[in-house]
Amino acid sequence: SETIERHEFGAEVGRLLDLVVHALYSDREIFLRELVANAADAMDRRRFEALTSAASALPADAKVRINPDKATRTLTISDAGIGMGKDDLASSLGTIARSGTRVFSQTLEAAKAEDRPSLIGQFGVGFYSAFMVADRVTVTSRKVGTDEAWTWASEGQGSYTLEPGTRAEPGTDIVLHLKEDAEEYLEPHRLDHLVRKWADFITVPVAIVRDGQDEAANQGTALWRKPKSEITEEQYAEFYRTIGMNFDKPWATLHWRAEGQLEFSALLFVPGMKPFQPLENDRQSKVRLHVRRMFITDEAELLPSWLRFVQGVVDTEDLPLNVSREMLQTTPALARIRKAVTGRVITELTNRAKKGEDYESFWENFGPVLKEGLYEDFERRAEIAPLLRFRSSSVEGWTSLADYVSRMKDGQEAIYYLVADDQEALKSSAQLEGFRARGLEVLLLSDHVDAFWPDQLGTFEGKALQSVTKGNLDLSKFAPEGSDLEPVEGIDAFVAALKTALADEVSGVRVTDRLVDSAVVLSAGGAGPDLQMQRLLRRAGR
Ligand code: ADP
Repeated sequence: SETIERHEFGAEVGRLLDLVVHALYSDREIFLRELVANAADAMDRRRFEALTSAASALPADAKVRINPDKATRTLTISDAGIGMGKDDLASSLGTIARSGTRVFSQTLEAAKAEDRPSLIGQFGVGFYSAFMVADRVTVTSRKVGTDEAWTWASEGQGSYTLEPGTRAEPGTDIVLHLKEDAEEYLEPHRLDHLVRKWADFITVPVAIVRDGQDEAANQGTALWRKPKSEITEEQYAEFYRTIGMNFDKPWATLHWRAEGQLEFSALLFVPGMKPFQPLENDRQSKVRLHVRRMFITDEAELLPSWLRFVQGVVDTEDLPLNVSREMLQTTPALARIRKAVTGRVITELTNRAKKGEDYESFWENFGPVLKEGLYEDFERRAEIAPLLRFRSSSVEGWTSLADYVSRMKDGQEAIYYLVADDQEALKSSAQLEGFRARGLEVLLLSDHVDAFWPDQLGTFEGKALQSVTKGNLDLSKFAPEGSDLEPVEGIDAFVAALKTALADEVSGVRVTDRLVDSAVVLSAGGAGPDLQMQRLLRRAGR
């Protein structure tokens, strides 16, 4: 008919379409995420507009509907959003308005053909991703506050058409005429799986039409965006169980909203139990990154690896929805969010450590992981040190470095520690005899990371951390309690004989005041690694 207008795509759209459609094989399911995100955005915008203008409000039961129709092999995504007028359709769907898409299109074009599929998987490609699964797309939309609808249609081949359409209410229908090899997207269970994966936490309800009925596909809560006062303890716990497949109660729930220079909401949990998957297996933080409620990735490493036991969601306005992997690594906004979130978690741990209460259960679950920060995170070292807890030769239960320092003897300058594979070995170690005899406290370390961090931390409150297995320790200024050690006659000749006999095995033999009951103990050279470190190096074959 004569009311149909045909338009050419902007040059960039043509190239992008071509690239997207031809380069992408494995990741094309992302089209659904892109279209659902657009639909949810449009509904959010309508809700917002209605606050400030006479535009009709978003109906209370508004939702995004995903309607697969096997008879016509079409998949329709409908929303009750703000809608697009004729000009909007031409400018939004006929040109590339977004800077992200332009960057994407340039990057993609510059990339080698074999690298393109993986590149596409890393970017969102917006509305045009529809052409990955459809050979024809029609968009019928009615803009809020108008009573005419328009239909945009294209086969993704360089041009599109615009003609008057019909739609009873404001909003948009996107009809995908699916390619023959994309019929999987007509299966409600497949769609359901995808929506759950990407959109479970969108605030707008999403329904999949199955046998003529709407079935809710997402929970639509985005709990983290609600004010704390509106959330019950049980809702927090429920959310915690859903996101981490946890069964326990969180040990800590951190929920806050940052406003001002940085805008994000965060809802984080420290689990009450150790996860079933040992934390050694995967060293990356899995805190989920959302942008405007939409799930983006759980690989943004929003927390350093030594806080990888923390679970939850960070949702920001400061990133585009189509944020790429490259951007995740380089964007200053994300670096600032990481810093803020890390700081907040440390503050929480610091407060809980001060209060005491149930800090020890946290420590028993995650202490060994937290300690990795001592050698991985130079800047945070001083904040981590007060969070540490230890077994000790002098007190029952757990003790902190500050408590140790408060118990130090007059004239004691170092914090003594001993590392071994387990607490049993530590308790019976001959290395402790001389310290016990002098009433000197020794911290007993048996986690696998304990061989590594004390040298890195170096000091606490100005006191050096000192391994008791180092040979250069001088305990002579502390009198042994109870016993008087007499000089033994002929000891020098005996030491000389041992030196000769063991010349190939040890670098030296000397008389020590570190032993009480045992005759001999191995110790490490002054400058080199301590004994536990030497054992680890030997085990590693070095
Ligand atoms: P982005 O959503 O990142 O801006 P898209 O290519 O996905 O990029 O969409 C381009 C524009 O088209 C959107 O910014 C929006 O203005 C408009 N648009 C897309 N889908 C809808 C929709 N369902 N309702 C209203 N506007 C939409």
